[in-house]
Parts: sequence; structure tokens; C-alpha cells
Amino acid sequence: MLQLLNICKSYTTADFTQTALDNVSVSFRDNEFVAILGPSGSGKTTLLNIVGGLDHYDSGNLIIDGISTEQYKDKDWDAYRNNRIGFVFQSYKLIPHQTVLTLSGVSRAERHDRAVAALQKVGLGDHVNKKPSQLSGGQMQRVAIARALINDPEILLADEPTGALDSKTSVQIMDLLTEI
Ligand code: ADP
Ligand code: MG
Repeated sequence: MLQLLNICKSYTTADFTQTALDNVSVSFRDNEFVAILGPSGSGKTTLLNIVGGLDHYDSGNLIIDGISTEQYKDKDWDAYRNNRIGFVFQSYKLIPHQTVLTLSGVSRAERHDRAVAALQKVGLGDHVNKKPSQLSGGQMQRVAIARALINDPEILLADEPTGALDSKTSVQIMDLLTEI
């Protein structure tokens, strides 16, 4: 369903250019659980951001369901991100002043039901009225996973989702991701 062809990406800061991705080609099937491994700085986050439409490649092509993204405009990337991708980050990226039940983009009643259902799915049904500061790291990452699932995405991307967690909680989060 996803195909990367000769993807290149580099970053220039001041007079220094760093190649983050150098001709990466890889294909992913419809149903697949894939782990990308590599040392810090090897381009894993860059690759995930490009696959998730959060960042754009310099050259090469990303083909989604057989359709080239070479001519994609901002609105095409927005639709792709909103409808097909769920993203989980190492640092959770929750909004401090909102309870975990808050969800934008759909009607009030529907978003309440969908948020509760997603939080139940990740085992947080009893914690829906808490704010991030009232949760443990593992619980915050469960909220982030629930958020990533809310639009029922075809692709769930997770960038070092257990990087900030202890080993026991990491196993629970990986089990949850595997189950999903
Ligand atoms: P990883 O996730 O594997 O640790 P990254 O994709 O974050 O690697 O980074 C790959 C390389 O690109 C690193 O050398 C990093 O410094 C560089 N890089 C990543 N993002 C930026 C950026 N926004 N600006 C400049 N350089 C960047
Ligand atoms: Mg990274």
C-alpha cells in the first residue's frame, strides 16, 4: 500500500547540509507490523515524518495505494494525514490544559462517544476526566495511542513510543500496539 522510491531528504542549517535519507526504497504491504531500527541520527524520525506526511521528501517518490504523491498539494497532504495516519510520539505530545476526553473536529456528542470508546480500548476508561499531569507515563502514552486511533487510520506510525517508559510499561505499550 505504501512504496518509497529513492527518497532523499537533507537539512541545511547555516552552511551545513546533513543528508538524513539517501536514496531509501522500501515497500509496505496492507497488513504489516514493521520496526525500523538504527542508531540515533540515522534518519528514522525523518523517514516516519515523510511516510506520515508531516514532512516532505526532497526527491524520489512516495506512492500511496499506487498513486504518486509527486503532485500533492498541501490540502492533499492534510487529507492524507487526517484520514489515513495515526501518529504516536516518544514524548506523548498531549495538551496540558485539556482532559484526555477532549477531541476536536467532530460534533460534541459524537466526539464524546468516540473518545470514550478509544480510551476504553487502551484500558483508560476510568481516567477520562484527568489531565496529562494526573497520569503516569504509560497512561499518557495510552492516551496518545487512543488519539492516534480516533479517526480509525489505516496506518499507525509510532516514533520510539516506549523511549520514555520503564521496561515493564514498555512491554505493555508494545503489547497494546501489537494487538491494535
Ligand atoms: P533518528 O530519528 O534516527 O535519530 P533523525 O531522522 O532525527 O534521526 O535525524 C537524521 C539526521 O538529520 C540527524 O543528523 C539530524 O541531526 C538531522 N536532522 C533531523 N531533523 C533536522 C532538522 N529539522 N534540521 C536539521 N537537521 C535535522
Ligand atoms: Mg528519532
